[in-house]
Amino acid sequence: MKIFQMPDTLANKIAAGEVVERPASVVKELIENSIDANSTWIKIEVLEAGLEQIRITDNGDGMEEEDVERAFLRHATSKIRNEADLFHVNTLGFRGEALASIASVSRLTIKTSQGDSAGTFLSLEGGKVVERSKSDARKGTEITIADLFFNTPARLKYMKTIHTELGHITDLLNRLALAHPEIRFEATHNGKPLFSTPGTGDMLQVIAQIYGMGVARKMLSVQKETLDFKITGFIAKPEITRASRSYISIILNGRYIKSIPLTQAIIRGYHTLLPIGRSPIVVLSIEMDPILIDVNVHPTKLEARFSKDKELFSVVEELIRSTFRQTRLIPEIEQKPVVKPQQSVQHSMNFDDVKRGENTLWEQRNEQTNLVTKPYQPEPAMEKNIPYQTTNVVEQEILPEVRNEEWIIQEQDRGRNTVTATNEHEEKLAPEQRVPTMYPIGQLHGTYILAQNENGFYMIDQHAAQERVKYEFFKKKLGQTTNELQELLLPITFEFSKQEAIFIEHYKEDLEKVGLFLEDFGNQTFIIRAYPNWFPNGFEEEVIREMIEQIMHDERIDVEAIRESAAILMSCKRSIKANHYLNQEDMFRLLEDLRKTTDPFTCPHGRPIIVHFTTYELEKMFKRVM
Ligand code: ADP
Ligand code: MG
Repeated sequence: MKIFQMPDTLANKIAAGEVVERPASVVKELIENSIDANSTWIKIEVLEAGLEQIRITDNGDGMEEEDVERAFLRHATSKIRNEADLFHVNTLGFRGEALASIASVSRLTIKTSQGDSAGTFLSLEGGKVVERSKSDARKGTEITIADLFFNTPARLKYMKTIHTELGHITDLLNRLALAHPEIRFEATHNGKPLFSTPGTGDMLQVIAQIYGMGVARKMLSVQKETLDFKITGFIAKPEITRASRSYISIILNGRYIKSIPLTQAIIRGYHTLLPIGRSPIVVLSIEMDPILIDVNVHPTKLEARFSKDKELFSVVEELIRSTFRQTRLIPEIEQKPVVKPQQSVQHSMNFDDVKRGENTLWEQRNEQTNLVTKPYQPEPAMEKNIPYQTTNVVEQEILPEVRNEEWIIQEQDRGRNTVTATNEHEEKLAPEQRVPTMYPIGQLHGTYILAQNENGFYMIDQHAAQERVKYEFFKKKLGQTTNELQELLLPITFEFSKQEAIFIEHYKEDLEKVGLFLEDFGNQTFIIRAYPNWFPNGFEEEVIREMIEQIMHDERIDVEAIRESAAILMSCKRSIKANHYLNQEDMFRLLEDLRKTTDPFTCPHGRPIIVHFTTYELEKMFKRVM
C-alpha cells in the first residue's frame, strides 16, 4: 500500500459534497459572499431551479486581478488571517471553501472589478481554469454557474423536482432578505420575477414581500436593548397562526439561524395566546458581541452556539409577553404564582357572580346532590377571573410527600396506569359505563375539576376535557361528508407567501381532486369560489393553509390527515381555556360529556385528561391500609 496526497481537484470535489448539497446551497454561498463584499444590490437569476444556470450579480467591492484566481483555491479567504480572528468573525463566510467547492462541480465564470480599472474575467471547468481575460470596469462581481453537478452524476440524480429545488431557493432568499432588509434583492426564475425587496432597511417591507400585506398588517414591532443584546423585530398578533414553526425566523448578527430553545422561548412568550399545536409568525433580529458566539459549527448547519443563552431566552420571552400585555389584545391573564400544595380546595371567583349574588363555588360544593340540569353552556362569557383564593388550612409539614414533585408525577402515572388497566379490562362496556358518573367537588386554579365517585378521586384538566368532547363531535361530522362543493356567494381571497404560491401552482391538480379550486389572481393572491362542504364553517382559511403547509412538508395531500387536524383545530379553538371559572353545573355537564367520548383519557394532542386516584390508593397514601 502506498499513501498519496490527493490532488486539489479531488479534495475540492469531496469538500463540495458537504458544502454544495443542492442548487440552493450554491445560491446561499454566492449571496453570502456578495453580502460580505458590502453589496447594497444583489441580483439572482436562476434557470430551471438552478440546475441549468445560476447567476449572481452584485455591486460590492469586487476583487483585484491577482486575487481572483486565488479565491478559487481551497482555504483561500480574505476574511480571517489568524486564530484570534476566529473569535471575532463578523462576516458570513470565513472558511474559504465555497468558491473552490462550487467551481469543482460546475462550469463557472466570474467577472469582477473594483471599479477603478478594467475588471477580470475567469472561466473554470470542474475547478480548472480554462480561460482568463479582461472584462469591463463595472464595480462589483458577477458569477455564473452552469451545469451544476455535471461531473458528479450521483449527486445530480439525487436532485428532487424543479419545484422542490425552487422551493428551497425561495426559502433561502426569504431568510437572507429578512436578515438584510438594507440590501435590495432582485430574483428571477426562467426570466420571470420571483422575488424582490426594496432595500430600504425596513424589515416590515420585506415581511410584506414574503408573507403578503395581510400578514404584514398584523405584525407588531418589538425592540429591546440590554447590556448584552439588542433585539428588534416583528411578531404576529396571535389571531394569525400557522401549523409549523417554519414561520419563526431568527437572525443573529445578520445570519439566519435555527435554534430550538430560542424558538421555544418565543412560543412561551405567546403564553396561552396560541391554540395548542399552532405557531406564530415571528421575525427577530438579535445582535450581540461576536465574542459571545461560536460560529465554528458545521458550515451548512444553521444552529448557533452562544454564551449567555439562558439570559437571552428569558429576555426574548419577556419581550413578547410584555408586548401583548401592553397592546391589550385579550383580557389579561394573570400569571399564577408557584403555589405550594394546600389541603383546601382553591377556587375561582368571578365578578359577575359576585354581582349577581350567586353562590360561590365553595358554598355550591355542599349542594352537589341537588344538581339541576340546565343546558350546558360550553363557553360562558366569564372572563374577569380573579385566579383563585387560597385558604391555608393545613400546615405544609403535615403533608411532606405532596411537596415532592417527583412523587406527584409518579402518582399521576399510576393514575394513568390504573385508567389504562380499567380501559382494557372493561373494553366491551359502553363508553359511559367505563367511567361512572363523576361528581364535581370543586375547581382548582380555575383549571382542573376535582371530582369523586364510588371509584375514588379524579382530577380533570377542563380544557383538555372539552377538547376531547369537541374533537369527537367534529371528527364525526367531518368524517360523514363527501367532497361535494359548497358554492360561495362572494369569493374569498387568500394571500400566500412566494414559496407557498410555487407549491400551489405545482399541486393545482391534486388540490382540485380534493375539491380545492384556487384561482391565481396575481401577486401571490388566490381566490376560491367554492370549497368542499366538509370544511368547517369559519375555519376555511385555516384548513386551506393547513393543506398548503402539508403539501410543502410532505409533498402530497392527505385528506384524512387534514380532516383530522381540522377537527383538532376546531376543538381546540372552541374550547374553554385554563384559568376559567366554571360553575357546578358546567362542570357536571362537561364531565358527563367527557364520560361518553370514545377516549376520555387523552386529549387530541395526546396529553392526559383524567388523573384518577382509586379509593384504595388514597387509603394507602394515608396509611389507612397497608
Ligand atoms: P469565504 O467566503 O469563506 O472567504 P469563499 O470561497 O466563499 O470563502 O470566497 C473566497 C474569497 O473570495 C472571499 O474571501 C472573498 O475575498 C472573495 N470573494 C468571493 N465572492 C466575492 C464577491 N462577490 N465580491 C468580492 N469578493 C468575493
Ligand atoms: Mg463565502
